[in-house]
Amino acid sequence: MTSRARLDEPLSRALGQARGKNPLSKLGLETVGDLIGHYPRRYDDPGRLTDISMLRAGEHVTVMARVVRTTVRSMRNRRGALLEAVITDGKHYLSLTFFGKHRGSLYAHEQRLVAGSTGLFTGTVGLYRGERQLTHPAFMMMGEDDLESDEDMLAEAARPIPIYPAVANVPSWKIAKAVRTVLDTLTGADVPDPVPLEVRARAGLPGRLGALRKVHRPDSMADVRAGQHRLRFEEAFVLQAALAKRRALATGRPATPRPLVDAGAGPGRRSLLADLDARLPFDLTAGQRDVGDEISAELAGARPMQRLLQGEVGSGKTVVALRAMLQVVDAGGQAALLAPTEVLAAQHVRTLRALLGPLADGGMLGGAENGTRVALLTGSLGARAKKEALLAAAGGEAGIVVGTHALLSEHVQFADLGLVVVDEQHRFGVEQRDRLRDKASAAPHLLVMTATPIPRTVAMTVFGDLATSSLTEVPAGRAGVTTHVVPAANERWMDRTWARVREEIDRGGRAYVVCPRIRPDDDGAGGEDGMEAVPVGDLVPAGDGDGAGGPGALLDPGEPPAAAPLRAVLEVVEELRGRDQLAGVEIGVLHGQMAPADKDDAMARFASGDTPVLVSTTVVEVGVDVPEATVMVILDADRFGLSQLHQLRGRVGRGTAPGLCLLVSDAPPGGTAGTRLEAMVRTTDGFELANTDLELRNEGDVLGAAQSGRSSSLRLLRVVKDAKLIEHARTEAIGVVTADPDLHYAPELADAIAEQLDAEKEEFLERA
Ligand code: ADP
Ligand code: MG
Repeated sequence: MTSRARLDEPLSRALGQARGKNPLSKLGLETVGDLIGHYPRRYDDPGRLTDISMLRAGEHVTVMARVVRTTVRSMRNRRGALLEAVITDGKHYLSLTFFGKHRGSLYAHEQRLVAGSTGLFTGTVGLYRGERQLTHPAFMMMGEDDLESDEDMLAEAARPIPIYPAVANVPSWKIAKAVRTVLDTLTGADVPDPVPLEVRARAGLPGRLGALRKVHRPDSMADVRAGQHRLRFEEAFVLQAALAKRRALATGRPATPRPLVDAGAGPGRRSLLADLDARLPFDLTAGQRDVGDEISAELAGARPMQRLLQGEVGSGKTVVALRAMLQVVDAGGQAALLAPTEVLAAQHVRTLRALLGPLADGGMLGGAENGTRVALLTGSLGARAKKEALLAAAGGEAGIVVGTHALLSEHVQFADLGLVVVDEQHRFGVEQRDRLRDKASAAPHLLVMTATPIPRTVAMTVFGDLATSSLTEVPAGRAGVTTHVVPAANERWMDRTWARVREEIDRGGRAYVVCPRIRPDDDGAGGEDGMEAVPVGDLVPAGDGDGAGGPGALLDPGEPPAAAPLRAVLEVVEELRGRDQLAGVEIGVLHGQMAPADKDDAMARFASGDTPVLVSTTVVEVGVDVPEATVMVILDADRFGLSQLHQLRGRVGRGTAPGLCLLVSDAPPGGTAGTRLEAMVRTTDGFELANTDLELRNEGDVLGAAQSGRSSSLRLLRVVKDAKLIEHARTEAIGVVTADPDLHYAPELADAIAEQLDAEKEEFLERA
């Protein structure tokens, strides 16, 4: 066991504060460990150490000088107070000025700038009435901070000055001082190092305490870089080790092998999979075959498959999943398909039944002899339908059970769950995956599917416990999508937009019209559908959990709010019904606040062409498949993230007719929003868009959004910039975990992983 005693020591004690007060609790820093993990936000250059005679206005400098006198006075014509100090290097004089709200706020400075004491003063030289001065310089006084001599001072003058995230009344220098006090008393034994010695030695990395000293008390910027590099490595390493352990644990449990059943074997023996392949209306793409083989081989193994299937929108993941499910059903097991929304679950059931035809009518008149059944299980089912579905799952009649989060509930039981397929993974946390896995006696195989293109490093970080397959080609015969940006304020263009919609409909097409809000009076702050706020991050397309995505999820914090109010479904539908261009066209509505049955109905009426125009929120974003849909108009398109736009656009051009996507926006070209839209016009490559997106956004969002929990444990690591480092850490972490799965010889690493899991759980619970 390692001892964290020193790191867990309360700061009140460590800092020797009277009455057990901890001055840093305002920053959420309670223990020694918290404090040394509070890294500087940046470093100030101390500037050149100069004598006063050489100072030139505008220069950033540090001077070593003695305080001659200090005066504080209230200002006459303005509110507030002024502290003026005069300092000297023995020959020349320089004044320092500090402004405060009132005299009291200058008290701390006054106490430190005692006449006769020597200090280092850093700032930019200014001129006031022809006199040189420093306004609000940073300073350190001899006697403070272990600066006991001129030499100390000179050494100090060359150091980068750490600037900490601070709050009112706890300025950066106070934090720096506390950090120093604490760091000076720590020994290597007090600071457990999760990176094992041999890994450090191989990578030439300093120990943890050394790295912390470099980051908090650097002699040079090179120190800062070395320290940060090591701490970043540690973050990546702990995370990757956690993922490696998790994977080892998951694949370490035995699974029931579900080998491919040979269609020809045995008298009269047929396989559902062979029968499906025979009745598919299209040829599988090469990618579908390859990935299918890969999955098929893993399903036959005695270790549970742990696979992520990444595939461009429309690349045909559903068929791949269905074929995997049928292999398991053929082998006597069941499969569960978990969808993020009711709309999507219902659609999956329709799609699977259509693909299976009589194969899905097992046990029914006219059904195939070897047929199975596809059951739907969602939260909003009526009592009878629910009971039926539960029975079919528990009794094994349903080879395939499709559902939403309801599938995770404790009442749901399976006769023999062999495969869990999770569609559009990013809506489900690791915890939820685990819960479904726990429903099987032996570990079920797991296939996670996502259409969100994830750059490799993000995949490594977020889904590092899964092996990855990709479907890169989209089936031939897709006509593709053309995208244009339409300026919202230009009436002629808007008229033309709706006229184009009309043309498509007259040709037998369908049109989606997507709006960021449901009602005009939604303030756009909370979840429109009473859902929890979805993170802003774009890798999680904000959408309808079992409802619809809050518009709050769409607001990009980096953008100033749009001047015009955001367009709302219920208002736009009225506008469109009154438009000449759409006279006589039936227009439907779909949003997350509708009852599930109404949502299904709206989708069905749209698919059948009863209402060839569908005005909706982002509920249509994920996975909805209406091959006749040829045009999509996205209003306030700049309010959506790039990968969300990509997902939305993937809803059109899925059949043989070319698709058209019109992005209606007021965003000026060249800004972040404008650049995003231009990227949409330029390319339909999801990976390229994902990378553009990462360049345009803050990475915290990416991780925070991509999955719960991870953001809190990553402080310095940058998923894209640190790609190489992550790869390196991953290799080392896998090495360590493989050699020592229980981490007997790396107890510090085991502790760090446990700590991280706790933080993750906490965050998960907070969100739930
Ligand atoms: P996604 O990967 O986005 O989930 P889907 O599985 O919904 O894509 O497939 C999109 C459409 O492509 C569906 O209508 C599906 O039937 C069709 N499809 C799948 N595979 C092929 C193929 N090999 N050739 C032609 N069409 C295909
Ligand atoms: Mg899909």
